[in-house]
Amino acid sequence: MQPENLIQLLAKSFADRQLFLVGGCLRDRLLGREVSDLDLATNARPDEIRRRVEEWADAVWLVGEKFGTVGLQKNGAKVEITTFRADTYDGVSRKPEVAFGTDVRADLSRRDFTINAIARSVHTGELLDPFGGQRDLAARLVSFVGDPAERIREDPLRMLRAVRFCAQLEFELDPAAAVAIARAADELPRISFERIREELDGILLSPKPSDALRLIIDLNLAAHVLPELLTLHLPEPGRHHMKDVLEHTLDTVDLVPAENSLRYAALLHDVAKPETFSSDENGVHFYRHEKIGADRGRAILSRLRQPSALIERVARLVEHHLRIPQYRAEWSDSAVRRLMFDLGDQLEAAIAVAEADVKASDPSDYPEFNQRLEELRARIAEVGEAAELARMKPLLNGEEVMELLGIAPGPRVGEVLDFLLDQQIEGNITSREQAVTAVREQFSSH
Ligand code: ATP
Ligand code: MG
Repeated sequence: MQPENLIQLLAKSFADRQLFLVGGCLRDRLLGREVSDLDLATNARPDEIRRRVEEWADAVWLVGEKFGTVGLQKNGAKVEITTFRADTYDGVSRKPEVAFGTDVRADLSRRDFTINAIARSVHTGELLDPFGGQRDLAARLVSFVGDPAERIREDPLRMLRAVRFCAQLEFELDPAAAVAIARAADELPRISFERIREELDGILLSPKPSDALRLIIDLNLAAHVLPELLTLHLPEPGRHHMKDVLEHTLDTVDLVPAENSLRYAALLHDVAKPETFSSDENGVHFYRHEKIGADRGRAILSRLRQPSALIERVARLVEHHLRIPQYRAEWSDSAVRRLMFDLGDQLEAAIAVAEADVKASDPSDYPEFNQRLEELRARIAEVGEAAELARMKPLLNGEEVMELLGIAPGPRVGEVLDFLLDQQIEGNITSREQAVTAVREQFSSH
């Protein structure tokens, strides 16, 4: 359903009530950005909103955590209608003490940024913009409604929302807002990691996350959001084209496609470089930084309460991020199969990370990378069973191994299973019979 038609329908249902387009949807319409969902505010109470839309909406629900909001769906379009609010914050828990209001201006005054505090009447089309939101839209500025320090005290999450809107809209942060945030950054731990995660996700999916990540550092927000960013400020000494690991990381993040696991993998791929750094007469080393990085990445993403599927995808990409850049023509077919097995369904993602990683590096570190990648792709297509490889399991299970060798549960069983899987990936073992023979030969004598 066209938004205009839906707005007409809503205007009819609320003919004797105030009803305004507000917030993100109005902001994005004024910017000429695509808008999918509609946000509206009204002086009708939630039970009344419900009654007025129920007869024509395809579905109606109460929006859980957003007190006083009714959600509805009509021909695939989603709408949220919220009763005007007049809430006050207790300044400690950031739990708003919500009260319903009757005045759209009071409702706008409790919104976070001027660009989000504009309203347009669906009845008259009149724009209400008491805080200069249109001026800031034109100047491409994120500014607080009212006194920045006070607004942050009410809800410290707004500090990170400010950075997120700068990133998503490619706006600048108002200087007064920047000063207030830098001063109040220590308040951020009042906010749960779940909510921080949502903002960080938005930042990482924006067109150029590096600017916002730098802003997080410059505004002193990194210590709580992602302290690891601060330790990445490590020059690689003894190198001509010395590039800070942080700079390299930020470039890599910008260069991967805007997808969650790719952006997080880019962000975390070198996270263990500082702690693995060493140097000797052969130069500078970061031994096992990819393995340790995968562990650190898991811990960081768990702290941010990311879903475990994302954590595993990212850890896999980090752990193997050196493999594709290091591909050589000399690799055996089984080395190619091993790569495909280790990356499984993340193979394409790993290629995307590798391309970005290499582009963000000194070209002399990865000579002829494009040709090598092309060749690797051809060999992958030849082997052509990535999905099958990804699902491969040892042909014998743990019980069978124990019975065959007459051994008790313990690390030895795992060793045997690893051996079996290795041989299967190499193509040396293709049946259960061969598996039994190989295990006997290899392990019975011990
Ligand atoms: P997006 O397109 O990212 O959803 P949005 O502006 O709709 O942008 P939401 O987080 O969905 O952002 O919030 C909807 C509106 O509610 C905002 O435009 C803002 O007016 C108000 N708002 C949301 N969170 C806060 C907050 N923490 N403090 C004050 N106002 C807020
Ligand atoms: Mg929204």
